[in-house]
Amino acid sequence: MSDEMAIITDGLRKSYGRVQALRGVNLRVKRGEIFGFLGPNGAGKTTTIRCMLDLIRPQAGLIRVLGIDPQQDPVAVRSRVGYLPGELNLEGNMNTDEALHYFADLRGNRIDWGFVRELAQRLQVDLKMPFKNLSKGNKQKVGVMQALMPRPPLLLLDEPTSGLDPLMQQEVYRLLKEAQAAGSTVFFSSHIISEVEALAERVAIIREGVIVEEVRPSQLASMTMRRVHVRFREPVDWASLTQLEGVSALSKGDATHVTLQVEGEMDKLIKTLAGLPVSTLETEHPSLEDIFLTYYRSEKAEAH
Ligand code: ATP
Repeated sequence: MSDEMAIITDGLRKSYGRVQALRGVNLRVKRGEIFGFLGPNGAGKTTTIRCMLDLIRPQAGLIRVLGIDPQQDPVAVRSRVGYLPGELNLEGNMNTDEALHYFADLRGNRIDWGFVRELAQRLQVDLKMPFKNLSKGNKQKVGVMQALMPRPPLLLLDEPTSGLDPLMQQEVYRLLKEAQAAGSTVFFSSHIISEVEALAERVAIIREGVIVEEVRPSQLASMTMRRVHVRFREPVDWASLTQLEGVSALSKGDATHVTLQVEGEMDKLIKTLAGLPVSTLETEHPSLEDIFLTYYRSEKAEAH
């Protein structure tokens, strides 16, 4: 089975002193898939990824990365993985081009520098700029470049679009899909639902060091509560909207506007609204915390 799997973790446990960061993390990532690792701040995403590279040793559990045990052969794992850490930092006065050569030398990978120039152009990175002078977003792009540039069989990316503007986020999504089409497996962490929906084929949701769910991204939409603000061109009797399954009124407003809470898909509400004189409709995306509040009560809270 391990041949089919790019990543296996079984019962991964890691504590930092009294903080239990991982409490038995089980993952199966197939070769060739784009896998999202979704969780709020502090859930254990970074710790899990660092264990896969043996940058941190878990106290218990089994890990296989591309069939290799990272604790037995960390160099073999790291030379096959394009890793984007949460924050990329470099001492010294290297310009960005030199920084990329430095990363390439560290890994000992052969690099197609034509591909690196293409990445720089698509991500709008000035290779002549001193690395330390780059903005946070531009440092993030260089981090993405150094992960992608050896065209590794596995990409481990810790929040790949953090700090990037929406156009650049889209470019990174395209690059990751192209990497997948060329045969790479992509494992990325995120705390943004829309990012996982846009990119991943499967997603594991981690919370408080445990995987609470593994779903297809399309299922995330039906797990979420949305807030919908509707304004009408003229007074209407909107009470009928609250008869729809999963729809309730949050604020009564008056006959010209209402704020609704919608559980699950929006289809029925939108079709019903189509028969009313709607002037504006705004939907608030629920945060990951909202989903957790709705679907998973905190085990800690329940214990109290
Ligand atoms: P974020 O999205 O904020 O990066 P994360 O899901 O990556 O969060 P981790 O960084 O893995 O989460 O942290 C998991 C837990 O372990 C948190 O409670 C964090 O405070 C704690 N932790 C992480 N690193 C250390 C450390 N070096 N020493 C002590 N506690 C740590």
